[in-house]
Amino acid sequence: MTPDLSSTDTAAMEFSPDVMLAMGRAVVDRAVAHIASLPDQPARGDVNVADLCRALREPVPEEGSALTPLLDLLFDDLIPRSFTTPSAGYLAYIPGGGVYPAALADFIADATNRYTGVWMAAPALVQLEANALDWLRDWMQFPVGTAGLLTTGGSGATFNAIVCAREQMLNNDIRSGTLYTSTQGHHCINKAAKLAGIAPDRVRSIPVDRDFRMDVAALEAEIARDRALGLHPFFVASSAGTTNTGAVDPLNDIADVCAREQLWHHVDGAYGAFFHMCPELRPLLSGLPRADSLTLDPHKGMFLPYGTGALLVRDGQALRAVHSATAGYLPENQDEFYDPAQYGPELSRGFPGLRVWMSIKMYGAARYRAAIAEKRALAVWAAEQTAAIPGVVMDAMPQLSLFAFHLESPALVTQAQRNAATEALVERVTARGKIILSGCTVDGRYLARVCVLGFRTRQAEMDICLQHVAEESAAILRGA
Ligand SMILES: *Cc1c(COP(=O)(O)O)cnc(C)c1O
Repeated sequence: MTPDLSSTDTAAMEFSPDVMLAMGRAVVDRAVAHIASLPDQPARGDVNVADLCRALREPVPEEGSALTPLLDLLFDDLIPRSFTTPSAGYLAYIPGGGVYPAALADFIADATNRYTGVWMAAPALVQLEANALDWLRDWMQFPVGTAGLLTTGGSGATFNAIVCAREQMLNNDIRSGTLYTSTQGHHCINKAAKLAGIAPDRVRSIPVDRDFRMDVAALEAEIARDRALGLHPFFVASSAGTTNTGAVDPLNDIADVCAREQLWHHVDGAYGAFFHMCPELRPLLSGLPRADSLTLDPHKGMFLPYGTGALLVRDGQALRAVHSATAGYLPENQDEFYDPAQYGPELSRGFPGLRVWMSIKMYGAARYRAAIAEKRALAVWAAEQTAAIPGVVMDAMPQLSLFAFHLESPALVTQAQRNAATEALVERVTARGKIILSGCTVDGRYLARVCVLGFRTRQAEMDICLQHVAEESAAILRGA
């Protein structure tokens, strides 16, 4: 299929409706066939492709290409050479999603290309984003007056939270401000602090307890120490589900400390916040609605395709105060309606609200709750079964939907041997092609982890996971 770009009118860039339809159908055909083939794809495609990457380097093409060879390249050669992140067997890291309604929404947003950075240019579309943010707020039980912001991910949300707190709490005295997170806090907190002007020597790493939760007494001691040094403690980032072991910090106790000490309490819920949608699971995240700000990652817990994080700030005016601006070429700001550019750092941008809104509208909250609760139930069940596998020692049972463990046996004498055996387990299970696992290193210990958060992951994949972990553990322990 060749674009009908006339050879004489070399500046023409529009395709005819018929050609656009044909190209659109070709893309949808390939994408849907791809999704349908996910069960047959290896859990981890061949990513050992440095030679292919070198071969792909090319000078800028002077002439345009037809669509079909590009689709062939993508779907046949490049997409398969990656981790199969959308597959049901993807239990590594924190799984993302890729629900179809969001893909449709992205297509609509891009094809219609309206300007949603500023309210007045597309008020009714911006209202859909405002609705979606209000729904997130309600699920998290944040109060009216909360402001939200969609970002490209949890890292961006956390960055915006720190900037907002810094402006509120430190004003221009940035250098005296100190920030606290646990040794298990996500590294994006450190990156965000640096971007927000909080230097690494002002970031404190608080130890954790046996369950990998922040040690609140140690936090208080560190705050007192910094005050004695004449510094200005201003920000605690706690975790509602760490990436290593899924630990939920004692959010209520930390909220108490922050209230007493007048610190901003940020909760990193990039992995765990959406479990708060389910009323029966809220006790697992007790204290989360008390946070001053909350990072969420719809591209994890709402199963959206990669590219959408979210921030909620309890004092919505604080977020607005950071970003509200105007210029001679812009309309006057209005107060009644949500206006993205008044609450975030970007002006021109895509329309991230549509993929969130469309996914919630098409599935409904009830289906989301059922899916999220199922992921936790699968993890709880699988952790109990895994704990019974000979040689497996559990390091973390699921606080939400993630558990971690390692291998032990009399033959594995040193820590290095245990680490090597557990790492081999992760690799051997993944190499079998149905399940992809990842590990993590905590205090010199290598742990295997299973994180259940993909919307395609159901009981069948957990059965396979258990079978492959049991078989490969047995083989490793008998030296095979
Ligand atoms: C994924 C994750 C992040 C970072 O979010 P991105 O969307 O990858 O930028 C932060 N914290 C936790 C706990 C996460 O799981």
